[in-house]
Amino acid sequence: MIQSTQKITSIALFCGSNFGHDPSYQLAAEELARVITALNIQSIYGGATVGIMGHFADTVLALDGQITGVIPQTLFDAEIAHSQLSKLIVTSSMTERKATMYQLADAFILMPGGLGSLEEFFEVLSWLQLGLHQKPCAILNVNNYFRFLLDFLDHSVTQGFIKSGHRDMIINESDPATLMQHLLSYKHKPLIK
Ligand code: AMP
Repeated sequence: MIQSTQKITSIALFCGSNFGHDPSYQLAAEELARVITALNIQSIYGGATVGIMGHFADTVLALDGQITGVIPQTLFDAEIAHSQLSKLIVTSSMTERKATMYQLADAFILMPGGLGSLEEFFEVLSWLQLGLHQKPCAILNVNNYFRFLLDFLDHSVTQGFIKSGHRDMIINESDPATLMQHLLSYKHKPLIK
């Protein structure tokens, strides 16, 4: 059983509004939903029914877990806002959505997704680097989906644009339960940018 040493009561999930081509992405989202819900941790996500986002939310709800959606009014129809969530927050802008998710969450997980997921994750990651927060940031690297991204980050370290200590702050695991173990035992080591 996973034990929590960090005080984490809620986690924001950044995940694709599409399913992707590999069924492993959906299976991993289900497994992560099971692990998070079993720990009695609340999930925060983008509030949509589509893609991995919707699949994750449906799994949490089927397990009687708590999940809050945060969706901008402009995407309410386009991404089809989920009507069955524990709570749905409708924001007036994308910026407000991201700020709300940031405030509500004690940690962040990037699941397979596209530009939106990446943008959201890299924002909180850059704030971690600046010391604006100390919340753990993790990548669920299902079937090595993020290999080129992780390689690029290593390349950026080699080229002198990212400090290795900042690169090392990113938790990276392919297995949801192992990822959660690392996330819950994360100890922030401050490093000046
Ligand atoms: P995607 O990973 O592109 O499938 O998108 C996942 C989620 O990110 C969706 O809810 C999108 O609405 C959202 N998203 C798309 N673009 C942005 C952006 N620039 N900033 C924040 N969220 C975004």
